[in-house]
Amino acid sequence: MINCDANASYGLLPEVREAVSAWSVDFANPSAIHQLGQRARAILEEARNELSGLMQLDSRQRIVFTSGATEALNQALFYPFWNLSRNQTKDVNYLTTTTEHPATLTTFHKLASLGITTNIFDNQKQEIFSMKSFLKEVTPETICCSLMFANNETGYIYPVKEIFTQIKKDFSSVYTVCDAVQALGKLPINYSELNADFIAISGHKIGALTGIGALVVNDHLPARALISGGPQELSWRAGTENLLGAYSLGIAAKVMKSQLSNNLKSYKKIKQKLIAEIQAQLPNAKINFEQIETLPNTISLEIPRIKADDLVVAMDLAGIAISSGSACASGKPSPSHVLLAIGKSEEQARSTIRISFRADLSAEEQSQLVNHLVKNVPVS
Ligand code: PLP
Repeated sequence: MINCDANASYGLLPEVREAVSAWSVDFANPSAIHQLGQRARAILEEARNELSGLMQLDSRQRIVFTSGATEALNQALFYPFWNLSRNQTKDVNYLTTTTEHPATLTTFHKLASLGITTNIFDNQKQEIFSMKSFLKEVTPETICCSLMFANNETGYIYPVKEIFTQIKKDFSSVYTVCDAVQALGKLPINYSELNADFIAISGHKIGALTGIGALVVNDHLPARALISGGPQELSWRAGTENLLGAYSLGIAAKVMKSQLSNNLKSYKKIKQKLIAEIQAQLPNAKINFEQIETLPNTISLEIPRIKADDLVVAMDLAGIAISSGSACASGKPSPSHVLLAIGKSEEQARSTIRISFRADLSAEEQSQLVNHLVKNVPVS
């Protein structure tokens, strides 16, 4: 099967597969003080170091292992709420955008049901995000601003660093939260420069196992946990850590770091070639955001009059995985909220597919992708 749905899950890196297959640690509690526990602790801390290296974190940032980015975002978004007294909830607001992942949007809805005013910034159906208009929404009452680095469906890159820096300058007490799930390993980012109090990432999006992720927290913040229990992860997240998962994440981070510059070149080359071939063979197809820099492995493609869901099934039968929206939303008949938010009609959204590839997509796989796309799109 050819994975052109890498934004849904990158698939294990060969190095991760090998390391996980050779896993022989049978005592996996890093909190135990005896030698076996200490060995487990060393594995966990090594994984933390590797992830910190990939993200270029500094000493003021601490990695907390979680079950994934959804949990990390829940933890981060609830944190400002927990610091409010009961009668403060109605006087404050949270800010995010309409194009965020459901992990953020649904948490916002939950916070709204608890009395928080949530401002979900609508970019007026424009494709290009208006940083100026977004910043106007930040008020002295804003206590949390959440913004993704790159969109999972369109690959659109948001000016997170500029926005968070400005917010911290104007209103230093706003908690800033970044969903960096899709950016990690695909863009050269120094995550210590974002001015983010919380950064969420996910293991399976960079070639590690599923069920592991992390929240990077600003070390000066007092710990408060979404999941209560023991004092693991310096009391940020209770429960015995997922040692094998963290180990796989550490290996993936190490490999991604060493391959980042080569991967960036591969992504660029593959993307250019795929776009050129698609445009030559499917002249009606429209590449979304063609004129601006988006995630280097992501192509959002509108093919007028096709049903994206049907095309996904046809491609699947041909052994190629693509997507008609975000993986989390697939199975739902409603068109993508992201595409509607950037101004697409329902019909256009339903005719849009996402191709998101790994850096090692071979030339043969690229040809198969284009050939099968062409074969399955009716001639108009
Ligand atoms: N944020 C973005 C942008 C995503 O693409 C995803 C997964 O698709 C998530 C958050 C949730 O990540 P996880 O699968 O680790 O819960």
